[in-house]
Amino acid sequence: MYTTTVLNRANARLAQEAARKRAVYEAHLAQAYAEQPRLRELDRTLRSTGARLASAIFLREGDAAAEVAKLREENRRLQAERRQLLQTAFPEGFLDDSPVCPDCAGTGYVGSRMCKCLEALCRQEQCKALSALLPTGREGFEQFSLEVYPDRFYPQYQTSARTLMQKNLNFCKKYAAEFRPGIRSLLFSGATGLGKTFLSACIAKEVTARGFGVVYTTAGALFSAYETVRFERAEADTLRDYRDCDLLIIDDLGTEMTTQFVVAALYEVVNSRLLAQKTTLISTNLNENDLEARYGGQIASRLIGSYRVVYFLGDDIRRKKT
Ligand SMILES: [Zn+2]
Repeated sequence: MYTTTVLNRANARLAQEAARKRAVYEAHLAQAYAEQPRLRELDRTLRSTGARLASAIFLREGDAAAEVAKLREENRRLQAERRQLLQTAFPEGFLDDSPVCPDCAGTGYVGSRMCKCLEALCRQEQCKALSALLPTGREGFEQFSLEVYPDRFYPQYQTSARTLMQKNLNFCKKYAAEFRPGIRSLLFSGATGLGKTFLSACIAKEVTARGFGVVYTTAGALFSAYETVRFERAEADTLRDYRDCDLLIIDDLGTEMTTQFVVAALYEVVNSRLLAQKTTLISTNLNENDLEARYGGQIASRLIGSYRVVYFLGDDIRRKKT
């Protein structure tokens, strides 16, 4: 399910494309009339024989059948002349006035189903929105480098960071490939700079490419949208996006100024999405104990009980790279 924001943008682009096609057609028609005055004459006559044909059929006066046959014949002859004229005087498709999409005639819907053309535009708009938000815009599973994770063994975790991250990478790839709305939510937990944002972004891109509605936000942006709505109701669309999308990614939970209001907003988004069986991916630098201390038992137990927790280990990659 695409968000209202993405859907509005996609619809606007479809309408724009239809208007552009219409404008090209009208310009071509004007040019064609100027170059071939016979074409304008033919169109005029065709319109009038069309109208006469309709009224002859409707009125049935006099020898209606003969009149109808005569008009039909004239109509056929004029159409043929017009086709011939277009073929000789203009390149093919010059006067194309077919709709922007043959399946939905440019409405974006076939019955109650979204047409492929509008779906494709939604995917593009969502990719654009995501790329604008993601830290580098170049995130992809292939770009994820395991070398930056130390392979020394941590006795307390019974693994090395590199082994753990290899597992996480495999898990995230599989998760993105198998994503469907309602699949178990994820909690990425680990210190800053261990690739949580990067892997969330990889999942976001892959799930978007597969045609699902994804919203990526930082915890700070999410809470300030809630704050804005409380005071001026201006960001209602944004909140609807947070509520309705197939996958909501909340990055950097725990870096915001935590107030009573933030705790209430977080509870609202986590709980309502769990109840609606919507999937959420939260990344945080907090561990289970910190989560409980900061947001209270109600939120912590929902996150730890219902989400699958994925731990991140290692040294800060960003410090290493520079
Ligand atoms: Zn269509």
